[in-house]
Amino acid sequence: MFNLSGKVALVSGASRGLGWAMSQSLASAGAHVILNARDESVLKERVKELSAKGLKGEAAAFDVTDHAAGGACIQAAVKKHGRFDILIANAGIQHRKPITEFETADFERVISTNLTAVWALAREAARVMIPAKRGRIIMTGSVSAILARPTISAYIASKGAVHALTRELAVELAQHSITVNAIAPGYFATEMNTALIQNKEFNDWVCKRTPAGRWGELKEIGPVAVFLASDEASYVNGHVLVTDGAFSAAM
Ligand code: NDP
Repeated sequence: MFNLSGKVALVSGASRGLGWAMSQSLASAGAHVILNARDESVLKERVKELSAKGLKGEAAAFDVTDHAAGGACIQAAVKKHGRFDILIANAGIQHRKPITEFETADFERVISTNLTAVWALAREAARVMIPAKRGRIIMTGSVSAILARPTISAYIASKGAVHALTRELAVELAQHSITVNAIAPGYFATEMNTALIQNKEFNDWVCKRTPAGRWGELKEIGPVAVFLASDEASYVNGHVLVTDGAFSAAM
């Protein structure tokens, strides 16, 4: 079960954090993983790390807000490998400011990376998955789409829309045997959260507020992606799989 041998996947935001963790799990399950982020040198190191473990991957450096580059990457994958099976639209950024100080340009930068680029990558994936009559599209949402915190208005708006987009695309693409699901992580200790991890008060709050009593560990996200990407999850569609140590289940 959950064997991804022979499948070709693209993971955006794969150079570190959750994207790298998911990439390693997909590759361990047998997939050939195309690793995307903007910094090519880091991606090449990641590919070497996969190869050292006998796993398959390649680097594809581009900015996800460049929609043509995303489309070209997926087309190139089909040309090179003869197939394209799994998209994990994961790249995301954060910007923290009280609403009265939040610049429009920063709002638009977050939305274009976290939402518009996810939509565009999903569109490019759908263009090759529909004729193939199979595919898995997985988006990284967030518990922030369900529960709010102050100062991250653009991020919360983007993630709320990603959850809604997941449902819309699932309904639109299910007839082609394509599933579209989201993973909504709780608090994971990644570079995105450096400022929060270094803030003792916040760190203590996360551990107290999360029923699991701790931050999520990177090894706890990859298997969730493998499940959603697998043949076995063929009837799981339009779902947001919350992965948060019961954070959002608790009052
Ligand atoms: P990190 O900051 O650790 O990693 C972000 C990744 O995205 C990096 O690989 C970065 O590489 C890449 N990236 C950023 N912008 C772009 C871009 N424009 N084009 C291509 N790649 C880009 O973040 P996390 O791993 O923590 O977050 C990953 C996803 O998970 C995000 O969508 C985030 O919102 C979501 N999430 C994270 C949570 C957490 O607790 N960590 C909780 C809930 C959701 P580079 O800079 O080289 O491009």
